[in-house]
Amino acid sequence: MLRTVSKRSTSACTRLITGLRWRSLSAAATATNTDVQDKIRTLKKRSKLHGYTVEKVDEVPELFLTAVSLHHDKTGAKHFHVARDDSNNSFSVAFKTTPLDSTGVPHILEHTVLCGSRKFPVRDPFFKMINRSLATFMNALTASDWTMYPFSSQNRKDYNNLLAIYLDAVFYPQLRELDFSQEGWRLEHENPADKSSPIDFKGVVYNEMKGVFSSQQNIFAEAVQNKLLPSHTYGVVSGGDPAYIPDLTWTQLKDFHKTHYHPSNARFYTYGNFPLEDHLQYINDNYLQNFEAISVDTDVPSEPRWNKPVEEKVTCQPDTMAPDPEKQTTLAVNFLLSDITDLDEATTLSIISTLLTDGEMSPFYQSLLEANIGSDYSPVIGYNGYTKESTFSVGLQGIHQDDIPKVKKIIAETIDKVISEGFEQSRIDALLHRIELGTKHQTSNFGLGIIMNIVSGWNHGGDAAEMLKVNSTMDRFKQRLQDDPHYLQNKVQQYFKANTHCLTLVMSPDEKYDDIRKQGEQEKLKACVNKLTDQDREKVLKLGQELLESQNAAEDLGCLPCIQVAEIDRKIQPEVMEKTDFDGIPVFSTCQPTNEVVYLRMMSFLDKVPEEMKIYIPLFTSVITRMGAGAYDYKELSHQAELHTGGLNAGTHVSAHHTNPDDFDQGVVFSSYCLERNLNRMLDLWTEIFDRSNLRDSNRLETLIKMAAADLAAGIPQAGHSYAMTHSASSLNPAAQVNEMFSGVSQVSIMKKIAELEDNSKVMEHLVELGREILNKDNLKISVNATPQFMPKALKELDGFITTLHSDRKPEQRVYKDHTTHTKSFTASSKKTQIELPFSVNYMSKSVQTVPYTHEDCPRLQVLSRLLSWKYLHREIREKGGAYGGGAAMVPKNGVFSFYSYRDPNSMNTLSVFEDAINWAARGEFTDTDVEEAKITMFQQSDKPVPPGQMGTTLFLNNITDEMRQQSRDQLFAVAKDSLVDVTQRYLVSGQKPSSLSFLGPNNSKVAEDQSWKIVKE
Ligand SMILES: [Zn+2]
Repeated sequence: MLRTVSKRSTSACTRLITGLRWRSLSAAATATNTDVQDKIRTLKKRSKLHGYTVEKVDEVPELFLTAVSLHHDKTGAKHFHVARDDSNNSFSVAFKTTPLDSTGVPHILEHTVLCGSRKFPVRDPFFKMINRSLATFMNALTASDWTMYPFSSQNRKDYNNLLAIYLDAVFYPQLRELDFSQEGWRLEHENPADKSSPIDFKGVVYNEMKGVFSSQQNIFAEAVQNKLLPSHTYGVVSGGDPAYIPDLTWTQLKDFHKTHYHPSNARFYTYGNFPLEDHLQYINDNYLQNFEAISVDTDVPSEPRWNKPVEEKVTCQPDTMAPDPEKQTTLAVNFLLSDITDLDEATTLSIISTLLTDGEMSPFYQSLLEANIGSDYSPVIGYNGYTKESTFSVGLQGIHQDDIPKVKKIIAETIDKVISEGFEQSRIDALLHRIELGTKHQTSNFGLGIIMNIVSGWNHGGDAAEMLKVNSTMDRFKQRLQDDPHYLQNKVQQYFKANTHCLTLVMSPDEKYDDIRKQGEQEKLKACVNKLTDQDREKVLKLGQELLESQNAAEDLGCLPCIQVAEIDRKIQPEVMEKTDFDGIPVFSTCQPTNEVVYLRMMSFLDKVPEEMKIYIPLFTSVITRMGAGAYDYKELSHQAELHTGGLNAGTHVSAHHTNPDDFDQGVVFSSYCLERNLNRMLDLWTEIFDRSNLRDSNRLETLIKMAAADLAAGIPQAGHSYAMTHSASSLNPAAQVNEMFSGVSQVSIMKKIAELEDNSKVMEHLVELGREILNKDNLKISVNATPQFMPKALKELDGFITTLHSDRKPEQRVYKDHTTHTKSFTASSKKTQIELPFSVNYMSKSVQTVPYTHEDCPRLQVLSRLLSWKYLHREIREKGGAYGGGAAMVPKNGVFSFYSYRDPNSMNTLSVFEDAINWAARGEFTDTDVEEAKITMFQQSDKPVPPGQMGTTLFLNNITDEMRQQSRDQLFAVAKDSLVDVTQRYLVSGQKPSSLSFLGPNNSKVAEDQSWKIVKE
């Protein structure tokens, strides 16, 4: 949803670029306790509160909340508070940041303000708080026109600790030159200690953005925005274009902070059950009252409208993973729509966009995707409401150069057709149903969801509370529809036909792209280096050394507040589940306050599927709910799913046995949810899919295969570290091996090969054969979550559903059997593999075989992974190495301990850092406090609130009981320094256990020279 958002998180930064899906706000619980809301209902308009004036109080009953809008009298800062009976409280402060160049100043500032502040003068207090807080969310995000610092916590003391740190960071950061050069960019000797070694560009954001621009998808999305809205801030790259980042100076950064990170340009948001007055008093007394109002010129003018459509071209590097190298062109037609603060117009256009592009019944799906000219929709698709004026994009990727005119023609004809025929009423009904279900379906961080939904509109002066009133907005929409039967068609005519502010963007691969980019980089570097005077050269050398020193310096973190392990609840949150047996199928039921929504999960075990068939299982899961079944063709099936459910999903599941390392479960998980009134309809759809699925539609299958292959290929740069870890784990145990086959980089190349086949009839037969095994009730187990009131009815309907399903067994034979896969012949082996991919950065990984979940060493290894990440690897790989991220993870799901780096300019050096980290831990060069902090991050993870629809999944999917979880928790509390040194020596030190290295990255001379490496070219 967020176009070019830089998201700074604990280990990896993802700049999200996606098209529109209907953004649903969902209620977190059936709120019964309204005390929290009652308190603020007494507030009167214009009443004064700790330096603030109340502007208004709004009720939003459909989301069980009461909202207060206020402004700060002295500075004009805006504050929006949402009172709601939810213990997962949220805070955020957002600034309107509208740069006019591509130096990435807002993005670099976002990184730099988190490098130490007045009260907390330590490097990276934000990162360090990760060890000292129970936050359920902590982050900083840079979008095209705002920068936001949000967090959530369920613990009052912790919330106040974080509030102090966040406010101090944004209003009183140190912004030292050293921080600027570390986070932004700098010139540095390859070896900072050796002034004869060559000078190069370094910096965290510099490397991060190089990574971002190595993805075709990102290049395209950025170009659409830059070229469709060229006149002001959207015409530049807010995250920073590596070609321009070195133009930014430290002084410019400080100036940008002074004018943009000021209360007069700020929007504060608080959410949850903590009292508003406390928030206001703290913010005013400690920060805002110290500032005078300034006038800030950050407004974005409306884009001057074009009087005729525009065509533009961009290039990108060829994708060697693309299923068909001849088909790598992307084309999208993009329209500028209306101001996002006009809520009714925005709602209408967002609904129209969804109707146009979303789902198999939509006109563009049928005209563009089913034509089988391209692999999938273009990377930006549908409505985008994250710029001051919204936009709509539609197009295809993976097309042949020669098909450009054809695609343009189809798009124009499709719009004409919609104008003349309109949309079917039942599709509008399906979308309205989805919106209704969306307000009731509950996700885990509701408070954060609210601010993410409203921040863009609010940032441009929209009314925050109005944006939350889903019901009245939808009522007005329905009224307009009723008053004018041609309402939607007229809007399509106005915005998609008569609109001359229309950009057709074509992106095609250029063999020389990478060379040109590298050459540009070299020229820029040369220009910078040539300009250096002797004095400057001294400074480069000194800065490099200072940076090294400051990175190595031990810091006193005493100023940072900390949650104590003793303050953490020793008891797990139990998962209360009932198990019933229907016709030999175990059904697990969990009663939860689900807000009249029913959640269903069905796992079909794969233990009897022949090995050679397993590579097709991921394809099976991505097509099985989308091929049509029984009376429904795939369009009708998709339509029925939209009318009655939140979607029908299928995916693979692999988990190592909790106790025995040679055993594991493998399955396909089917999942869906619906309003209570629609449960029988939802089950009918699953019956059709299980008993009468239609896998023999060759044309449809071809479309889905192409989409799956393109999706997978495009996803690699975003999650390269996961792919590297999945691969390095795969030689160590049978569960990890199957996991690599299902979701690793080898699956990406299998899917590519399948997509390249001329004839898919063999694949089709494999899928049909798989269907016999997977869509068979003999292999099933089921779980359902619903309200206690509805559960008896839900179970009754499930009973009926189960009797309809196919079984190969006679009724008397239907008893539940163990479906765990037991392996006898697997031998772990140590391997070194490079998967060669045309990236400009590397994703390194090392995995070591360790122990399963219930083993007493598992909690120790989990704490050790945190300790290594936060006390060693982050410093060495990110701060010194210039990678975007690096760390270690203990994954009980496969019993493997892994090290990784993310968007890493280094390769072999990082592998040495992994070894150094192990030796550091084996020598016990850390303190008891470090261990306590590592434990806090573990609890932070495990104590995240679980939404009602997901309660019980630990037991259902991984067979991990409450007793095991409690035991693991007890052991976590007991972890001490000695035991960490001990497990490091017994598992991680070289030669103790089988271990493998894998990485994704470009051609590497060291690897090429070394025979012990296997190079896989993709
Ligand atoms: Zn970033």
